[in-house]
Amino acid sequence: MPLRFNICPHCNEKIIFKIETNDIDSSNYPAPVYIVCNSCNKLSTFYVDSLLRISYKELEKKPGGITTIQAK
Ligand SMILES: [Zn+2]
Repeated sequence: MPLRFNICPHCNEKIIFKIETNDIDSSNYPAPVYIVCNSCNKLSTFYVDSLLRISYKELEKKPGGITTIQAK
């Protein structure tokens, strides 16, 4: 289960989360997944490639995601 480290686009705090292939719709990459920040509790959309690496992120909840992950 890959661990990912990134920055929350709302509050710029570090976030850490675990993601698996079944957390995303793998029919189309980059695939969106919803991440809830541990610091500010806001949701953002992270897009990941087929290796579950983060390509980019959006502040809003974008369509197409299937899982919401609470960051640690
Ligand atoms: Zn945040």
